[in-house]
Amino acid sequence: MQVQTLYNFIYEFIKNFEQTVTREQLIESFQKAMNNFFATEEIKIYLMDEYSYLLKDFIKPWENFSLNNKNSEVQKYFDNFLTQKSQYESDKNILYFPVVQAHKTLGIVKLTAKDEIDKNSDFFDVLPLITAQISLFCKTLKDREQIKLSSKFHQIIKNIAQITQTQYELDYILPIMGEMIDGFISDHLIYIFLKNKNKKEYKLIWPNNCSDNRIYEYLENINSKSKTIIEQSGKMGIFPLIIDNRAYGAIVAYNHFDKITTKEIGYLEEITSQAQLTITRAKSYLEVLEHATLDALTGYNNRHQFEKRLKETTAIAKRQNQELCCIMSDIDFFKKVNDTYGHSVGDCVLKTVAKTIKKELREEDIASRYGGEEFIFLLPHTNIEEAQIVAERLRKAIEKKKINIEDYNIENTKEISVTISIGVSKFNKADKIPEILYKKADEALYQAKEGGRNRVVVYKED
Ligand code: GH3
Ligand code: MG
Ligand code: MG
Repeated sequence: MQVQTLYNFIYEFIKNFEQTVTREQLIESFQKAMNNFFATEEIKIYLMDEYSYLLKDFIKPWENFSLNNKNSEVQKYFDNFLTQKSQYESDKNILYFPVVQAHKTLGIVKLTAKDEIDKNSDFFDVLPLITAQISLFCKTLKDREQIKLSSKFHQIIKNIAQITQTQYELDYILPIMGEMIDGFISDHLIYIFLKNKNKKEYKLIWPNNCSDNRIYEYLENINSKSKTIIEQSGKMGIFPLIIDNRAYGAIVAYNHFDKITTKEIGYLEEITSQAQLTITRAKSYLEVLEHATLDALTGYNNRHQFEKRLKETTAIAKRQNQELCCIMSDIDFFKKVNDTYGHSVGDCVLKTVAKTIKKELREEDIASRYGGEEFIFLLPHTNIEEAQIVAERLRKAIEKKKINIEDYNIENTKEISVTISIGVSKFNKADKIPEILYKKADEALYQAKEGGRNRVVVYKED
């Protein structure tokens, strides 16, 4: 190649990289550029981890760099570059050169060509420039990722703080927090534990299981004065949740391969303290709500009030020998709404569904929020055929409803719609306890889900 062509090449090379956003794209454009000189089979970049001083695959940094035969070569050449400052090393069809920044060797590039590498190739004229560029781009990408991470961090701190504005049930809040933290620190396993009130042991709240029994041993040692505990291996961190001067629970982060970095510890400590605040707020809110009767989000009766109304209504139906039916509804694939558009859109959907249904009911019908996205309706003076018609009307009204989400600034989405599944049951005077009424509706609802959702199922009495 002539000198001019080489410079054109370098120019193209840099321009290509300007558009690079992911690590994979970086390797891809590098590979494309390299194909001008030799047919490349594979390109790998390994950078030294600043915490563990181990080499890490640039694409899969979470993987353990074990010194198997293949990798021990990489390590050997890397050590050479550290001490000898040579520009490259080659071995038949493999070429190694260092990643250098400000005279410091930060990593190594391993290029595997299809054929033996020609040492007289023009490539070696531009190698110093390419080395400098590659190093610069690795660093730029890492920095960009860091900035993104820190803005993501502020977003989750904000989200955790926001949850209590509409939610007060810890059973609901804690798993959401778990998901948020997990999404943020994605290469660690995250667990949330709470202490049982009466017994002294810790119970896993999020996710569903934890098979690591050592964690429980660490939890046992937490007291109201405990600070962050980092296990000896450095791979596990326990972040105690202290609430009202009491050891209330803990967030645990665990990484199979790596030590938790100081930066991550900092992030997790802040998240934990935000979680403490949110739990404290939710708890005091809950105390207030114990005296309340309505659900804050939907304006329906809350669960506590529902239980009360159920007792009253069934007693009246029994005494006056009146018909009474129960409708239970559950939004289909609601989790997906939250996952796609965020929890505030989820809340908006819940509110809209509640409002839309309310319009379809009579004054004397009793609407309650049973939990999450499940509503329950008691219909006095209604027989099962009528109740089925009402249920079908509710189902259709929701299916038709366009929910406006313009205020939430979701790209390309101004409105969404959802469907509900419904179970219907009728009150049977012979039933010993009032709860049987909604257990039957719940069972029918389950069948509606099983049957494909967006449908009404009436409980069949034997
Ligand atoms: P299906 O019922 O069709 O089986 O699927 P689903 O996705 O609706 O099922 P699931 O019951 O597993 O999920 C319900 C989700 O509802 C889980 C929870 O995150 C969400 N949720 C519960 N309460 C609230 C709330 O008050 N606000 C928001 N945004 N989400 C809630
Ligand atoms: Mg549900
Ligand atoms: Mg649902």
